[in-house]
Amino acid sequence: MSINVNGFKKYGLSERLLDAIEAKGFASPTPVQREMLNLDSFKRDVIVRAKTGSGKTLAFLLPIYNEGNLDSGSPKVLILSPTRELALQTNAEACWLGQNQDISTASLVGGMDMAKQIRELRKGASIVIGTPGRTLDHLRQGTLKPEGIHSIILDEGDRMLDMGFKEELEAILQALPKKKRTWLFSATMPEEVMTISKKYLNEPLCIDLVEDE
Ligand code: ADP
Ligand code: MG
Repeated sequence: MSINVNGFKKYGLSERLLDAIEAKGFASPTPVQREMLNLDSFKRDVIVRAKTGSGKTLAFLLPIYNEGNLDSGSPKVLILSPTRELALQTNAEACWLGQNQDISTASLVGGMDMAKQIRELRKGASIVIGTPGRTLDHLRQGTLKPEGIHSIILDEGDRMLDMGFKEELEAILQALPKKKRTWLFSATMPEEVMTISKKYLNEPLCIDLVEDE
């Protein structure tokens, strides 16, 4: 291991993850990544407010990958993103982070071939990254099986609600198992985001990295 990833070493990350981070060339975690890696319990619900560009994607992917429990076979983690571009970008980050492990992902985004997405799910994707509309389509038609999902990450919560996905989000949250962990990431915390949080998160830990202006 080179000294390049020194800043990541004190968090108990697996060698496989450290190797992937080293290959990417990242030297140390950003503040939001440090907060997530330092959580006392990865089991509890969390709300995070941190600015755009602060590294929120790895802030949730690192603990999820490090925890393991991602054996292929069926979806375990669902990540919701506001746009196709962001979902595909998150999928790309998940792929490089998991490059040394046998973990497969599926991207369920609108405007793209449904059959290909169904094949990815059938092959046993354990991490599913989707936009709310297309993800709900797969849940409703039975091609995305919710039973084994133990974690849901609502990424860019403010943008998802700005874009009018409230109904889809609620329908998805209601279709998932009751016993699950929910992490909500957002750059801002307007009232609509807090409403979703109060309704669906269980005594969340709040991590706020945005100074009051
Ligand atoms: P956010 O979701 O908060 O807007 P992203 O997760 O998209 O931020 O990250 C912003 C950029 O920073 C991306 O290009 C990402 O690859 C890069 N990045 C993330 N973590 C690190 C890190 N620890 N060191 C250097 N660059 C990083
Ligand atoms: Mg982001």
